[in-house]
Amino acid sequence: MKILTVNCGSSTLKFQFVEVEREETPIGRERRLAYGIVDRIGSKGRIRFTVPLKEDYSQPIAIADHGEATHCVLDWLRDKGLLGRDSLQAVGHRVVHGGSLFVDPTVINDAVITGIEAVSHLAPLHNEPALSAIRATRTILGSAIPQVAVFDTAFHHTLPERASRYAIPMSLAEKHHIRRYGFHGLAHRYMTERYAIITATPKERTKLITLQLGNGCSAAAIEDGCSVDTSMGFTPLEGLIMGTRSGDIDPSLVGFLSRQENVDVREVEEWLNTRSGMLGVSGHSSDMRELLDAEAKGNARAALAVEMFCYRVRKYIGAYLAVLRGADAIVFGGGIGENSPQIRARICRGMEWCGLVIDQSYNAEAVGTEGRISAENSRIHAYTVPVDEESIIARDTVRCLRSG
Ligand code: ADP
Repeated sequence: MKILTVNCGSSTLKFQFVEVEREETPIGRERRLAYGIVDRIGSKGRIRFTVPLKEDYSQPIAIADHGEATHCVLDWLRDKGLLGRDSLQAVGHRVVHGGSLFVDPTVINDAVITGIEAVSHLAPLHNEPALSAIRATRTILGSAIPQVAVFDTAFHHTLPERASRYAIPMSLAEKHHIRRYGFHGLAHRYMTERYAIITATPKERTKLITLQLGNGCSAAAIEDGCSVDTSMGFTPLEGLIMGTRSGDIDPSLVGFLSRQENVDVREVEEWLNTRSGMLGVSGHSSDMRELLDAEAKGNARAALAVEMFCYRVRKYIGAYLAVLRGADAIVFGGGIGENSPQIRARICRGMEWCGLVIDQSYNAEAVGTEGRISAENSRIHAYTVPVDEESIIARDTVRCLRSG
């Protein structure tokens, strides 16, 4: 089956045109017929579209929103002859928040769109881009080509109540659907499934700590292939220190800052989401590469931001080792996790006590590649797994349509 995957971030739209030949093909090894990205949607952006071995197309362009970005992608695919009846069988969309309503991939119809809209007040910034792309795709392709929604929260619906609840009055939690939903589900699932393949371990017997470290960052504790705890919560603000998000703070800070600075609570939330994290601490950048460069040139605040970032990740690893009663491996994914031997080494520094020993040369070699970075005799292993969310979207789309 030929599937178009659409993956909307807050200011990006990534797509892949993938052929899923047989379900037995290992995950992440599907044939990519075309792929690309629309970057910096809402300002002066750029499109970069590729047909492997044939064409690399890149152009600066101003794109107003995700609906327009979808039109741009579909126009190009039509131009390449990839949208004909024989060439495209389905479209799969990543939707960030499924609430409690959607825990499985779901064929999109009017009722499902209404359902996604209904949970979107829980994550307005995150669901609206996907909804725009879904609406635009339906307008352009009509209903002849089925579309499937795959939810980023779904992988964490297996969290036990002790991990998914906040200790707030139950009546309020129930009334407002407040729970720890968790995010980055496709990424944590991909790392789990690839780990199972690389190590020839049945997925149902994996005990892992997966780390998605990009602009947004999260950790998950995986037991028997299922998520049993994760660092993001009701929103993607909780947990690890991120590019511009604070991660865990004392909740009293919100009211305190609102009163002291005489601003609305919503403004404080905005600060915590867009002006905090490594950007806030360093005052320099939210980008790990730039921070490492600045640190090397003696910038003390950049150094502090990086040190805090690594410390927070290590703290979560410690917590999840306790949750899982040990682990088989720690898996690093995301732009930082996949590409930075230095950050991986700093996170794992001093963890020999629990049996985690990083092999310096394996670690140095693993940049954007998949493989083991721990020493032969390490009791807890460490791996890098470049995350391919599109592979999960395409698989789930096929599985959902075949089962339905
Ligand atoms: P997103 O969460 O938006 O998908 P990515 O997964 O692409 O983001 O991760 C972006 C982050 O990865 C940035 O902080 C970037 O600096 C960092 N990164 C990418 N390559 C490297 C590298 N070689 N060394 C350190 N950090 C890197």
